[in-house]
Amino acid sequence: MTVSTPKPLHAPLSTLRGVGPKLLGRLEELGLRQVEDLLYHFPLRYQDRTRVTPIGSLQEGVDAVVQGHIRIASVVPGRRPTLMAKVEDGTGLLTLRFFHFRRAQAQQMKPGVAITFFGQARRSSAGLDMVHPEYRLDSTDTVLEDALTPIYPTVEGMGQGLWRKLTEQALTILGQTDPDDLLRGIASSPFNLAEAIRYLHRPPPTAPVEQIRGWQHPAQLRLALEELVAHHLSLQALRAREKACHAIAMNGDGSIAKPFLEALSFKPTDAQERVIGEILEDMSKPSPMLRLVQGDVGSGKTFVAAMACICAIESGQQIALMAPTELLAEQHLQTFKEWLAPRNIGIAWLSGKVKGRARGKVLQEIAEGSASLVIGTHALFQEGVVFASLALVIVDEQHRFGVHQRLALTEKAPGKALPHQLVLTATPIPRTLSMVAYADLDCSVIDELPPGRTPVQTTLLDSQRRDAVIARVGAACANGRQAYWVCTLIDESDNLDAQAAEATASLLREQLPSLSIGLIHGRLSGVEKESVMADFKSGTLQLLVATTVIEVGVDVPNASLMIIENPERLGLAQLHQLRGRVGRGPIESHCLLLYRAPLSRQGRERLEVMRSSTDGFYIAEQDLRFRGPGELLGTRQTGLTSFRVAQLPEHEGLLDDVIKIAARLMQDHPERCTTLIDRWTGERQAFARV
Ligand code: ADP
Ligand code: MG
Repeated sequence: MTVSTPKPLHAPLSTLRGVGPKLLGRLEELGLRQVEDLLYHFPLRYQDRTRVTPIGSLQEGVDAVVQGHIRIASVVPGRRPTLMAKVEDGTGLLTLRFFHFRRAQAQQMKPGVAITFFGQARRSSAGLDMVHPEYRLDSTDTVLEDALTPIYPTVEGMGQGLWRKLTEQALTILGQTDPDDLLRGIASSPFNLAEAIRYLHRPPPTAPVEQIRGWQHPAQLRLALEELVAHHLSLQALRAREKACHAIAMNGDGSIAKPFLEALSFKPTDAQERVIGEILEDMSKPSPMLRLVQGDVGSGKTFVAAMACICAIESGQQIALMAPTELLAEQHLQTFKEWLAPRNIGIAWLSGKVKGRARGKVLQEIAEGSASLVIGTHALFQEGVVFASLALVIVDEQHRFGVHQRLALTEKAPGKALPHQLVLTATPIPRTLSMVAYADLDCSVIDELPPGRTPVQTTLLDSQRRDAVIARVGAACANGRQAYWVCTLIDESDNLDAQAAEATASLLREQLPSLSIGLIHGRLSGVEKESVMADFKSGTLQLLVATTVIEVGVDVPNASLMIIENPERLGLAQLHQLRGRVGRGPIESHCLLLYRAPLSRQGRERLEVMRSSTDGFYIAEQDLRFRGPGELLGTRQTGLTSFRVAQLPEHEGLLDDVIKIAARLMQDHPERCTTLIDRWTGERQAFARV
């Protein structure tokens, strides 16, 4: 770089026309500070207002400008009057529908009037229609634009016009400067950086719309590649920083492991042995382990975690084991108590619900080190939790935690040493996705299930067949089996969810009076949940009505039947987790997906994946295809949903190049790496998807 004058691209946004203090504040909140940041604020999609589409060639779900004449227009009376206008253009007939309209609007729509409108056609029972299009009457003059119209991600109160004005100015500045093309000489593309940026902000009218929509345009690929490289580099940088820290090398003496393994009721699988070997090897080194263990539901990740714990305890160190939900953390507590209490190991429990004097006592045990293993929820991160000698952090995660969350826990280690870190994922992550999402971690895979499991048989059933299903539950339980009845999220609210479960439980109690039926949901206290689970585990309860709180970790081998209501509302990975609660014993298990008809085509395809496969990796790949990475990894803290250009799985073909290019940059141009990381992975607030 040969720069001495201030770069206009790095000028603050206040230098742009129309950016006053108020707008500046909003842009700042969105993570946009300098002119360059606007260039990397890319449109989410484009509208094509460059040409008129004949009605006869309209495609469903695609925005289009249409010009024609009104043939008839009328207000259809009813509870909600609707304004309908049928429009023809010589190639076909299309119905416009308005559910909100003013009287004047209805009066202006007379037969014979010329109309130009813009919207998305749908296919309805009465042919093609369009709901609430933008329109103009009597306009024969053209309203066409000369480039595709970019639609930017935005927040309330900032219209598309404003984004266009801002980016226009940024593009002008781009034209006067030469941005630093950090992939020059490394990646070949028909577009250089500036051209690619310009193209995506202002695609010409000749732009191949379909290709752009599929995210496959060379300009998109050029930028997506750079963005993925930047993400990969940022995780690598994080990894390098952590690996450079000191950690306590731990070599267990076997004094606990040996008797523990002798008393164990099962023989570890080869896959478990291998992964445990990888973990213990990491822990024996004076630099921190950063390891991810992936294993399908039921592959026995808990046992693997236990062996890591035992090694740390033998070395006189402390462990924090964190689970995403209270219920799962409690299950771990029980398992570890059962496994480790006979060895006289101090185990402490900490969740947000442990309060007052009890909390004080637990905190003291952790601070003094009399508790070697501390199990809990997010509460373990909180201030006031001080460890005597934390040397191993295990996170059993439901979704990808933010990297910073994991780091918050590692900061609990006293002194300069960083704890060893072990992450267990409940969701198998497709390889392509883990290359981006987990590039900071080494990965071990438990690719084998313990022997003697029979795959779960899954059936799709229309919810109209509910009575037959209830009878089947009754019969199975009468035969000594146990069953789950899962009520899925009706709303993003625990309360409604719990209500639905309560209603279902009382209904089932009426219809199956001879069964003992329990109920578990997120509103119960920890103690209540624990007691319900204990009753179910011991067989006192035959049927457990539950919300998705039982999604992860719950382990009752005698349960062999699961009913899932409204499975179409859940992601595949989540359904797979739920279904993993059965099929844990030697009896053949069944899962009935009680869907609500009619299913959309995609809805049916998704459930069909569940019916035909029990392979968590395959299912996760399909989930990625259907729903994208944000959903699969958990939308909240991944930071992955804020990719600006890159799309997965659409760009998975780039990933091999991403790894190679990142390696070359680190080797040959380390000075470019930080700039690249700053450019693409700076803080960003979530934008609304429009
Ligand atoms: P997950 O990987 O889903 O967390 P768990 O650790 O809960 O699986 O293990 C599922 C069940 O399998 C538990 O009851 C556990 O005790 C049992 N299990 C684990 N490893 C083995 C093994 N090698 N042989 C038999 N059973 C095992
Ligand atoms: Mg588990």
